Amino acid sequence: MTNLSETTVTSLKGIGEETANSLHAMGIYSVEDLLMHFPYRYEDYRLRDISEVKHEEKITVEGKVHGEPSLMYFGKKKSRLTFRFYVGRFLVKAVCFNRPYYKNKLSINDTITITGKWDQHRQTITVMEIHFGPFMKESEVEPVYSVKGNITVKQMRKFIGNALQTYGSGLESALPVSLLQKYKLPSKGDSVRALHNPVNQETLKHARRYFVYEEFLLFQLKIQALRKYKREQTEGLVHEFPKSKLERFIATLPFPLTGAQNRVLGEILGDMTSPYRMNRLLQGDVGSGKTVVAAISLYGAHLSGYQGALMVPTEILAEQHAQSLTSLFSETEVNIELLTSSVKGKRRRELLERLANGEIDILVGTHALIQGEVNFKSLGLVITDEQHRFGVEQRRVLREKGSNPDVLFMTATPIPRTLAITAFGEMDVSIIDEMPAGRKAIETYWAKHQMIDRVLGFVEKELQKGRQAYVICPLIEESEKLDVQNAIDVHDMLTHYYREKWKIGLMHGRLSSDEKEKVMEAFSENEVQLLVSTTVVEVGVNVPNATMMVIYDAERFGLSQLHQLRGRVGRGSEQSYCILLADPKSEVGKERMKIMTETNDGFVLSEKDLELRGPGDFFGRKQSGVPEFKVADMVHDYRALEVARQDAHDLLYSDSFWVDEEYKGLREMIEHSGILDGDKLD
Ligand code: ADP
Ligand code: MG
Repeated sequence: MTNLSETTVTSLKGIGEETANSLHAMGIYSVEDLLMHFPYRYEDYRLRDISEVKHEEKITVEGKVHGEPSLMYFGKKKSRLTFRFYVGRFLVKAVCFNRPYYKNKLSINDTITITGKWDQHRQTITVMEIHFGPFMKESEVEPVYSVKGNITVKQMRKFIGNALQTYGSGLESALPVSLLQKYKLPSKGDSVRALHNPVNQETLKHARRYFVYEEFLLFQLKIQALRKYKREQTEGLVHEFPKSKLERFIATLPFPLTGAQNRVLGEILGDMTSPYRMNRLLQGDVGSGKTVVAAISLYGAHLSGYQGALMVPTEILAEQHAQSLTSLFSETEVNIELLTSSVKGKRRRELLERLANGEIDILVGTHALIQGEVNFKSLGLVITDEQHRFGVEQRRVLREKGSNPDVLFMTATPIPRTLAITAFGEMDVSIIDEMPAGRKAIETYWAKHQMIDRVLGFVEKELQKGRQAYVICPLIEESEKLDVQNAIDVHDMLTHYYREKWKIGLMHGRLSSDEKEKVMEAFSENEVQLLVSTTVVEVGVNVPNATMMVIYDAERFGLSQLHQLRGRVGRGSEQSYCILLADPKSEVGKERMKIMTETNDGFVLSEKDLELRGPGDFFGRKQSGVPEFKVADMVHDYRALEVARQDAHDLLYSDSFWVDEEYKGLREMIEHSGILDGDKLD
């Protein structure tokens, strides 16, 4: 059989050197490339019932000419031809610009087919195309291709038509028959043909289904094969500890673990006690209780005779984590220390020494943890919180601090599972999808800025009840300076507004870490009742008595960020509130505010965010790991991605996959992708 990926396009009739060069410029070299150059849309010429067509929609109708056309000229070149015609029993007007020669082609009672834009109010079609005759079924839907250089869409249709005729039967599917049957997918040849020349919507749909599944499955096989390979190649250390001791520790916690916490712990401890090096992403919404999962894992490392490290993006968060861990471990002999850039001089030297000789069991800190001078005696487990804030490089350096320590990345930015696997490639993923019992849902309201007086009145009521509040300041992208100024302005305004009634604190990125610490402490001690802040309070801050948050210019924040911010309240037993001050102009902006008031579920929000922004923006420009698919769309074909992910996993971990003839194509695809060469290992 001819290998279509090695057959050059010049083997097709009508394609010479020059045309081939133009095709090369579009990345089309082989016949296979050409066949895989799918239309990006279809010209839809299907007949529509005029009573169902909406204003300004494009339609194709068949009708009978009624009455003489009238032609008017404006200047030399511009003209307008109008005539009436019957579509069924509707009498409709047609307007046709700058094509005066149509006049002589139209006679009363002729049957014509018109494609154009429908003006419902005037019952008029602005003509794009006229076919002088009855509607022809074969041209219902025409493919429209992207083209470059001097190649036209018409030529492209012809080239692809030729390729299909000559080589169409030679297309071989990488998918085994068993999978095609399982999902009732058409063959690859039929799918390619249908995408280029769809007979109707139904065949187009099935052809799409084929490619969506194929693209996702191949992609999932690749990244999961890489993950499997890495797991098997990287020797990790084996944590060994008496289970009973860990269970006793869990029993001392002030609350029972949720089912989800237990499940992810099983996954994490499973990795830790295995000879593989853990490389796991732990996702859990704000407040879902990741810290205690981290603590238990760190305790497991400690019981196995290893040190642990917990790295977080900000000093405030480092302090809070150090505090939480200290209180969780108060009944144990575990030594916890905090290392940030504000630990200096002698204190720092001593701390590093105690770390190096193993006196410190768990070190909590910011990226100060990954500086060269920091040496552990035997680092066995590394946990990073809010991992998306660290770069790949920082994560690598941290991992190399020990000899193959297990690594756990925690994040409160919920990403649909499949997308997480996509974006974070070869990591395993654990999800805490359940909140601790007894949490009251935060009530969220959206208010216009002009309602600020009422909002501040609402805030005051909460303060009078002895509660505390956050006021998050407007965000001005790319200018920390302006953000700070905003915070100062809002702080002044509120100080003036509430007179001397409440203590109002101010927090922003320009404060030194000492100052930040002081402000945070004052807030958590309730010496300050109202905290005005930029987004530096975003992650992890825990003041359960704070029940109110006001977010200025909420439309400037993404859904995920709003959700993160909102997570600062609702941490105690009292009812909490979040007020979004926003005057969004766009529909998307309004939609975002509405969604925020409707759900507290981070996963729902992340899926909406993904829908509203698309995967590229969702992951940020830095996450370049998001692949481009030809036909598939990670957002809209999400279910298929999920199915393909599971299938890829089942295949890779089945014995038959590595030997059976029917999987040969898939195996070769993995081999050819270079995954097994080892150069993709970091
Ligand atoms: P996050 O996942 O946002 O880091 P935290 O670990 O800070 O969440 O937990 C939020 C709060 O929930 C903490 O006060 C913690 O003590 C509490 N918590 C954690 N797990 C449970 C549980 N199983 N039952 C009740 N409260 C819990
Ligand atoms: Mg946390």
